[in-house]
Amino acid sequence: MNLFDLSGRAAIVTGGNGGIGLGMARGLVQAGAAVLIAARDAAKAKAAVAELRAAGGTAEFAVLDVTDDASCQAMAAACVDHFGRLDILVNNAGINIRQQPEDYDMADWRRVVDTNLTGAFACCQAAYPEMVKAGGGKIINIGSMMSIFGGAYVTPYAASKGGIVQMTKALACAWAKDNIQANAILPGWIDTEMTQKARQVIDTLHDSVLERTPAGVWGDIDDFAGIAVFLAGPGSNFVTGAAIPVDGGYSSKG
Ligand code: NDP
Repeated sequence: MNLFDLSGRAAIVTGGNGGIGLGMARGLVQAGAAVLIAARDAAKAKAAVAELRAAGGTAEFAVLDVTDDASCQAMAAACVDHFGRLDILVNNAGINIRQQPEDYDMADWRRVVDTNLTGAFACCQAAYPEMVKAGGGKIINIGSMMSIFGGAYVTPYAASKGGIVQMTKALACAWAKDNIQANAILPGWIDTEMTQKARQVIDTLHDSVLERTPAGVWGDIDDFAGIAVFLAGPGSNFVTGAAIPVDGGYSSKG
């Protein structure tokens, strides 16, 4: 058996129209999976699908807002409509709104937690019946270094990303009976739209990340292809409830 072969499998990547999600989608299609890119910005999603198809992959897109439960249900249905099944769910959609805790508007707190944590759970619930039908499944949740550490300007983000790890463990326990493995990936500092915005606001961020990261570079979205394929395929069948840093050593440095 090829432990990294995803032929015949169908995957959803939320927020897969750019950034880390697109990096994982590239890996999944290369390994043979059909991939549904699900996000709000349809033009960006269409461009991602075109890129994946040009590379020889099978890909479709669905408009998704993870804060809308009905949209999450429709996403799972769209995957089955396109590909006839749903085996792999990557919960990657995420946002950050930076403030000191005392300054948060409660609507902003809710937006971050609803998107990063509650939205991921809604997608898991929507995918679950289809994974049971398929005889098993793989859930990959995207955490952060803020799943481990704190920061002055990231209270709802850290709460949501800490919650992602605990949710992953709970799902791993609950759905092992259905042959579903749930794991989390904790990215370090990766060069994407999200961190480009942060670097505009914090002028010391770029250099402080380079200094603190043992690998000495910012991560690239393609650094997430390999871990996605591993966690989506049979090579990880006895790995569940884990939270795996992909961070160039950032979280290992004291
Ligand atoms: P991007 O901003 O490039 O990607 C985030 C994606 O989430 C976008 O494609 C966006 O698409 C989608 N998204 C946001 N809100 C929603 C929503 N309500 N419904 C559906 N999709 C949504 O950022 P990254 O690639 O950097 O981030 C990807 C994940 O990795 C996030 O969970 C982030 O927290 C995490 N992460 C990133 C790190 C980094 O250094 N970059 C570090 C640690 C974690 P659209 O706007 O079209 O909906």
